Amino acid sequence: MVFEKNIEIKNFINGEWTRELLGDTSPLFDPSTGDLIGSVPLSSTETSRAATKAAKEAFPSWKATPLPKRMDLIFDLITALKANFEDLAQSIAFDQGKHISEARGEVSRVIDIVQMNCSIPSLLQGTTIQNISEQINGRVIRAPIGVFCGVAPFNFPALVFGWFIPVAIACGNTFVYKPSSESPLFMQLMMTILSDIGLPKGVVNVVHGDKEVVESWYDDPSVSGICLVGSTPTAKAIASGCGRTGKKTMLLGGAKNFLLAMDDAPLDALVQNILMSSFGAAGQRCLAVSNVIATPGIHDQLVEKLLENAPKIRLGDARDKSVSMGPVISKQALERIHRYIEDGEKSGAKLVLDGRNPELHQDNRNGYFIGPTIFTNVDPSHRIAQEEIFGPVLSILQAGCIDSALKIINSHPMGNGAVIFTQNNFYTERFIEKAETGMIGVNVGICAPHPYMPFGGIKDSLVGNNKVQGQDAITFFTQNKAVTLKTLDPMEAITDNLGNTEITSCVAS
Ligand code: NAD
Repeated sequence: MVFEKNIEIKNFINGEWTRELLGDTSPLFDPSTGDLIGSVPLSSTETSRAATKAAKEAFPSWKATPLPKRMDLIFDLITALKANFEDLAQSIAFDQGKHISEARGEVSRVIDIVQMNCSIPSLLQGTTIQNISEQINGRVIRAPIGVFCGVAPFNFPALVFGWFIPVAIACGNTFVYKPSSESPLFMQLMMTILSDIGLPKGVVNVVHGDKEVVESWYDDPSVSGICLVGSTPTAKAIASGCGRTGKKTMLLGGAKNFLLAMDDAPLDALVQNILMSSFGAAGQRCLAVSNVIATPGIHDQLVEKLLENAPKIRLGDARDKSVSMGPVISKQALERIHRYIEDGEKSGAKLVLDGRNPELHQDNRNGYFIGPTIFTNVDPSHRIAQEEIFGPVLSILQAGCIDSALKIINSHPMGNGAVIFTQNNFYTERFIEKAETGMIGVNVGICAPHPYMPFGGIKDSLVGNNKVQGQDAITFFTQNKAVTLKTLDPMEAITDNLGNTEITSCVAS
């Protein structure tokens, strides 16, 4: 599919594409060229409420739809994702600027996640306990809850759809989704695909817009819960809004991930993993490594190898297969990253590789590009080591031993991911036990857990305690009911009701 440059993003409510006639819009840019490529509605509260109303009205019949029929939709979704794979990947490269190879990786990951949803009938099963007292049995059943709303960040338009929507609806809920206004195109394609495979009206609705859309849900009685993947301030704002009205939340926040390189780490594998993790997706991954801590025996060789290899990463248009790194999302993001680099220089850290003003093809000179950037001599207190830069900027710190490194990692307020590279079992086990992060990697640079495992951080990287993927997602999108059930002997019941003690059989004639 070739995407035109006048894309009109639309809402999808109750099975219909809609757009407010006189509503506000925000501009949509191609980050690879800086060209204006379309507009995105900034929906009003009325539009947002129309979507939750549609989801509320669709809930009773969707909830009553037999589970195998709901699963049919999931199976058809997998087939449709595979059939539309390339268009979906291209849509992400177009408006999010993710390099096409990485965009394909994102869509593949979504297919893995939706495939995991095929085990939902097993995961939804309740438990029973027999004979807890005379003629009393216990049973715990899982039931759908109602309408959930989801809010997406710009950097994973497909993945976050995959984390929220298939599992929520397979569990019997209905959904309203707000994509990021900076990367809405994937959902425009996705809703066409879902409609084509027979999604009933109102089961999934999409409303584009800003935070006002989300804020309209806090007091909306149709809404049971809100999920977000985004920055920590946004997660906290939603927690506060939902706390007032008692809605359920699943809120994944920001990150500042560490990689610890011990003296005995295999150098080549270490370097390859750092290059991919720190500079892949132009550093705009929640699991990107942005602080490397090196122990003294490996520090100098590591810096030398990184400086030999990082400049070889070629930047260019996200759709160009001959390059490997695309742009960042926006002009504002680029300016923010530049400010962090200036701050790093002022703080006394040493800028050993400067990615500002990279060489580019003439068609991409107005795009939002910055190449791999590396600082050494970074102190844990420097802003570049403390704050989420969300760009291809790597800080290299030093620590004398594993415990001093763990002290640096654990004193950081975020706790998303941490990785150790070592061949020593003692270091490995110590790191797994002591590192205060929700996701841990051992000799694996991007430690993204498989779809069967929970995905999410701890500390300031997660607000509340609910994570995406696996059994955790099923638990979030369902409510359990505990049933205590006493079986009455029909003989006795009839005897009592009729006062007739002569009946000796309850077998119907
Ligand atoms: P963001 O927090 O600015 O926006 C995320 C979404 O929230 C957008 O749809 C936005 O419109 C909405 N939003 C913004 N402010 C809001 C408010 N006050 N109230 C309600 N909604 C609001 O994040 P972003 O810049 O789009 O994405 C990057 C951030 O997402 C980074 O911090 C990154 O670490 C994080 N992220 C985390 C994970 C994870 O798994 N923990 C994954 C991907 C991205």
